[in-house]
Amino acid sequence: MNKIIILAVFCASIIVPPAVAGAPTALAIHGGAGTISRDKLTPDREQAIRAALDRALDAGHAVLDAGGPALDAVAAAVVVLEDSPYFNAGKGAVFNADGVNELDSAIMDGSTRRAGAIAGVHRVRNPVQLARAVMEQSPHVMLVGDGAEAFASSIGMPLVEPSYFRTEERWQQLQDAKARTSARVALPRSYYFGTVGAVALDASGHIAAATSTGGMTNKRWGRVGDAPIIGAGTWADAGCGVSATGWGEFFIRLNVAADICARVAYRGDTLADAAGSVVMKRVPELGGDGGVIAMDAQGNIAMPFNTSGMYRAWIRPDGSRGTAVYADP
Ligand code: ASP
Repeated sequence: MNKIIILAVFCASIIVPPAVAGAPTALAIHGGAGTISRDKLTPDREQAIRAALDRALDAGHAVLDAGGPALDAVAAAVVVLEDSPYFNAGKGAVFNADGVNELDSAIMDGSTRRAGAIAGVHRVRNPVQLARAVMEQSPHVMLVGDGAEAFASSIGMPLVEPSYFRTEERWQQLQDAKARTSARVALPRSYYFGTVGAVALDASGHIAAATSTGGMTNKRWGRVGDAPIIGAGTWADAGCGVSATGWGEFFIRLNVAADICARVAYRGDTLADAAGSVVMKRVPELGGDGGVIAMDAQGNIAMPFNTSGMYRAWIRPDGSRGTAVYADP
């Protein structure tokens, strides 16, 4: 019996290396890419958005600082962004064409390749927590719609009224989007984007990624974007993690997040080259737009986007941190 216990402890220590005190950790988060114009983004709003990004960084980094797992760090950061009305995830999510908020999310643990995802839920306050519960408390990777909400209830996760997610601004965006669509006027990209995500490297050298979104304004009932699709909008493996934001259909067709990490793993590309080629070349060549945050096992961070802005923030292994909106600082 003792031998079995000793063997089990030995195996566990191989599979899950302990956090190494002082080992480099890093965290990157995003609050969506899109048309962010300097004249529309008032200084007050920009400050509020940057403050929310900072709070999310603090929440995630507190976990990493305490030697906690990257998985906890990305979940903590994404919850803060889901709770903020400024981003298209959780509270403040965009409306679909039927005037309903339909939320998608995914989370992935790079060291074990475990993953969880949910799509099309409209009563789950923090979709990333339900995605994580699917990963940890069910034998599945993805649950959708009513089934996902029934699962949430079955594990005691409280559901909120759908009205919880509503903000007047998003409602007006939907009205405007409908008017533009019937007048056949193109929608501004700012109506689509605002997804949130996080990628972290913990002191054990493990990477995790998470993404959460309301999708795209005026989307059809039942439409699912890239965010909850493992490999498209969210991916983590032993050497690389990615969370994406942008025009989901293109990110699905290019399997963006996994493609970036595959370039790092199989071609030996640097993270910057891999993320840059996919986001700045492959995505626009196909007609899509958006951006990613990506991280490798050394804590290098790449945050390319081919839109005018992407809300983003980071803490590098050397402890330096920042928030940014546009391409230039
Ligand atoms: N990628 C998301 C989607 O297509 C939208 C976004 O990033 O804002 O659902």
